[in-house]
Amino acid sequence: MTVPTMPAEASASAAAVTPTTPPPSASPRLVAAVVCGQRIALPCPQWCVIDHASENVINLDDFSHDGAPISLRVPVTGAAERVLIARLSQWPFASDEAGRAAYLRLEGTDDGEVANLPTSAALAFADQLVAHAEGIRALAGVLADA
Ligand SMILES: [Zn+2]
Repeated sequence: MTVPTMPAEASASAAAVTPTTPPPSASPRLVAAVVCGQRIALPCPQWCVIDHASENVINLDDFSHDGAPISLRVPVTGAAERVLIARLSQWPFASDEAGRAAYLRLEGTDDGEVANLPTSAALAFADQLVAHAEGIRALAGVLADA
């Protein structure tokens, strides 16, 4: 009778495995928040930058998460303007269940008009931006040859 043994190569590679740092957790953390004057712990996603302990919301449905904004700096005559201001937002205790999901809040310019995009629409918009950037690159190429 033969007893199966582990090949020498397999045991050598198993010994060479080095520990790695696990990826950052996507699960929410618990943070202190003040709701109607009461300090409580609520889940808060990793992307949220709000200091919930420093605000006092009256009702839970006024409680929201916001991520850090990103924007595109566009040169204009003698200056620069920020456009396409985007951030993640969420109203986790909104009265309607559909309104509780996180979304991408997008402002074209700093005029207060916003679009709230779910994941599929945010990805579609990102694809449009890539196509627009390729168009600008093509125009710059024409300029270089002019
Ligand atoms: Zn938060």
